[in-house]
Amino acid sequence: MQVRFDEIPAEGREFDIKDASWFPAGEVRAAGPARARILLERRDGEGVFLQGTLAGQVRLTCDRCLAEYDFTLDHEFRIDLELVDQDAAPVAEAEHACQDSEMDVMFLTEPLIDLGEILAQQVFLTLPAKRLCSETCQGLCPRCGINRNQDRCDCGDSSGSSPFAVLRTLKH
Ligand SMILES: [Zn+2]
Ligand SMILES: [Zn+2]
Repeated sequence: MQVRFDEIPAEGREFDIKDASWFPAGEVRAAGPARARILLERRDGEGVFLQGTLAGQVRLTCDRCLAEYDFTLDHEFRIDLELVDQDAAPVAEAEHACQDSEMDVMFLTEPLIDLGEILAQQVFLTLPAKRLCSETCQGLCPRCGINRNQDRCDCGDSSGSSPFAVLRTLKH
């Protein structure tokens, strides 16, 4: 799914991608159909303005209790694609520019846009850093490993809920 700059007409070009060919299936598990839309517009000079949305569901593993749960992807993004000289590609600056601005900037060394790669990147950006099946997830008991969302154990609440309880058991 690659688009050359010169394949984008003056009025822009829209892609409505109903299949999940772009989905990073090797690294993220889909839990339902995925869909993406992308609008490309030529800008003055050597650049393309990209607007997109993606939607779908992925299956994640809870950091606390290790149970699987579904996470809904519903993401809008805008990227300014700029063409730069390969030798002068300001990589460090590009990373910096992406950090907290609303509009991401991506530097390309050739006038070729890989839609699949951009969409896959956006999936990763959308995934939560902390993955919890629920805000109130009780996690696993650090002593016996029981899932405390589903069951109770006799290890004792005070020692079980302390992060130091794990350290204590490791020392023995
Ligand atoms: Zn959980
Ligand atoms: Zn326990």
